[in-house]
Amino acid sequence: MKTASILGVQFHAVTKKQAVELAMSKLRARQKGYVVTPNPEIVDLCRRDPEFMGIVNHAALVLPDGIGIIYAAKILGEGLPGRVPGIEFAEDLCAAMAKENMRLFLLGAKPGIAEKAGANLCAKFPGLVLAGTHDGYFKDTQQVVDAINAAGGADAVFVCLGAPKQEKFIAANIDDIHGTLFCGLGGSLDVFAG
Ligand code: UDP
Repeated sequence: MKTASILGVQFHAVTKKQAVELAMSKLRARQKGYVVTPNPEIVDLCRRDPEFMGIVNHAALVLPDGIGIIYAAKILGEGLPGRVPGIEFAEDLCAAMAKENMRLFLLGAKPGIAEKAGANLCAKFPGLVLAGTHDGYFKDTQQVVDAINAAGGADAVFVCLGAPKQEKFIAANIDDIHGTLFCGLGGSLDVFAG
């Protein structure tokens, strides 16, 4: 896949539609991986945290969240087709998953928010299966891993803990969670909860 480097972060040069298609093909093939959606603040965090930079650059999809990344690409002479906001990618992925009755687990935000977000997404996209939810203010990571697995796992897991916590959670636990595609989506659950 063609990439554009912005201060060391290797963004994938894909449109939102292509990103959703790629994500769906990974879900269908049960090919484990994760999606990150860096904005300029996250690029800056990466520059100051080599571990975080490594995690971001190992993602299956690195999507440019925000016009700042697109402008930076232009100035640096790197080609990116356009911005792919995480929240829009997430919503379109839910729509595509719903058509194939795929399972979604929502992790993050304050207690009660993920449940509300899940109910709203399922109402909007009939066919989508809510595998389960968990709030983002936990002390025991293993308990969260166990909760997702006890729920029967999921095709996609939206991890919404803010950056860099969510990406570090994914990198540390992806192998232990019964799930295919893990998406770090910041404050998306608050938006989906309305
Ligand atoms: N959050 C969480 N656990 C934490 C810290 C934050 O679940 O320990 C949630 C917070 O409630 C919010 C999201 O993570 O829903 C972060 O949202 P923010 O808009 O700050 O993230 P961004 O989209 O800017 O990365």
